[in-house]
Amino acid sequence: MKCGGASAEDVARSPSPSPAESNIVSHSERLAAALFAILLLDRAARSRGNLRYAFFEKVRAPRELSSRAQRGNPIPDANLQGITLPPCSNDNSLDTSYQLPGTQSLFAIVQGGMYPDLRRECAERLVGMNFPGYAIGGLSVGEPRALTYETVQAVEPHLPQEKPRYLMGVGTPEEIVEYAGMGIDMMDCVLPTRAARHGLLFTSEGKVNIKNSRYALDESPLDPNCRCRVCTRYSRAYLRHLYSSGELLAQVLNTIHNVAFYLDTMKAVRHAIQLGEFSRFLSGVRARGLNSPAHT
Ligand SMILES: [Zn+2]
Repeated sequence: MKCGGASAEDVARSPSPSPAESNIVSHSERLAAALFAILLLDRAARSRGNLRYAFFEKVRAPRELSSRAQRGNPIPDANLQGITLPPCSNDNSLDTSYQLPGTQSLFAIVQGGMYPDLRRECAERLVGMNFPGYAIGGLSVGEPRALTYETVQAVEPHLPQEKPRYLMGVGTPEEIVEYAGMGIDMMDCVLPTRAARHGLLFTSEGKVNIKNSRYALDESPLDPNCRCRVCTRYSRAYLRHLYSSGELLAQVLNTIHNVAFYLDTMKAVRHAIQLGEFSRFLSGVRARGLNSPAHT
């Protein structure tokens, strides 16, 4: 037989594999055996409900959650017509799966737009999954600031006290103090660095637009109450000169100060909380108006 495959004689006459070919075959067999062993361990861990040792659970989890959502029952709420969410569950099995000890923690993000009932619903379901921390997302996207405050206040009571809360995408120095007062532990924002690159600087005396010609001969430090490496070395006049000359160093120095100012602000928040004087601290921040211009 010559067509459709090798005959027994062809096989008998075929040369034996070289040592190099034998090595390749041997490696392939070992790799296949190792993968098979991992699959067996993964299946065994999953069958015991122990997701910590289920090797592929972290990759599959988002898809699984999505399919769970598709299987869920519609919620009888006028605001949720046509939307299905997974039924409430006390299943805590996702907790250890998402915790990477000593490295990272996976936070669940509470969504729900500007609707307090949807925010509450989302928060309760995510808290039921027992994540290491919780974020509040979908805010600071152009809505009125009063509405942002209102939404954060609506979500906060539904998040566990003992776990970190992260408000995404805020804010000005004054706002981060306000949110800390609402129980928010961490925030992130492009504002300090982006504003710095455009010559807008936050100081203990208010905002400074370093492009302004009024600073051309101003030999005073950018912020007399700041101990950052910029305020202790350079004058406002020098910073303005750098910016006006198009020097990249202007953006670098401005960024260093703004980030230092934000860090100092949060340090002051922590200190005030530790002393039990946060309310007084917040009143002082509101009175000083950190967002207002230093000079009008
Ligand atoms: Zn500074």
